[in-house]
Amino acid sequence: MDCIFCKIAQKQIKGNIAFENDRVIAFHDLFPQAPTHILIIPKQHYTTLNDVPVEQGAILGELMTTAAQLAKELDVAESGYRVVMNCNADGGQSVYHIHLHLLAGRRLNWPPG
Ligand code: AMP
Repeated sequence: MDCIFCKIAQKQIKGNIAFENDRVIAFHDLFPQAPTHILIIPKQHYTTLNDVPVEQGAILGELMTTAAQLAKELDVAESGYRVVMNCNADGGQSVYHIHLHLLAGRRLNWPPG
């Protein structure tokens, strides 16, 4: 499968890795939209959020708890941060392997564009 995030997870393409375990890997976004911008992905390929079966939903919780742990380690947990998962075209998804954005280090606008 020609998926750039699978290739990063499998170390076929170099990523700037912030965290990894057996199930998830987190790496810095190539085009950061905030001083801290990390992508947290499952190692297993799911194309969009729509494609995660309910019985495998625990991985979504692990993406979130990984984001919170990274925020603490990067000392942005108290100042604040945002986690976002875009889904399909109207959601702004551009890479079709689910990923949670962890954004921090500046005041983020709401509503998003
Ligand atoms: P989304 O638009 O929600 O699908 O987010 C995809 C994100 O992946 C964007 O923020 C891109 O900057 C980022 N991105 C694309 N290719 C790479 C890469 N090779 N390494 C790290 N981040 C990437």
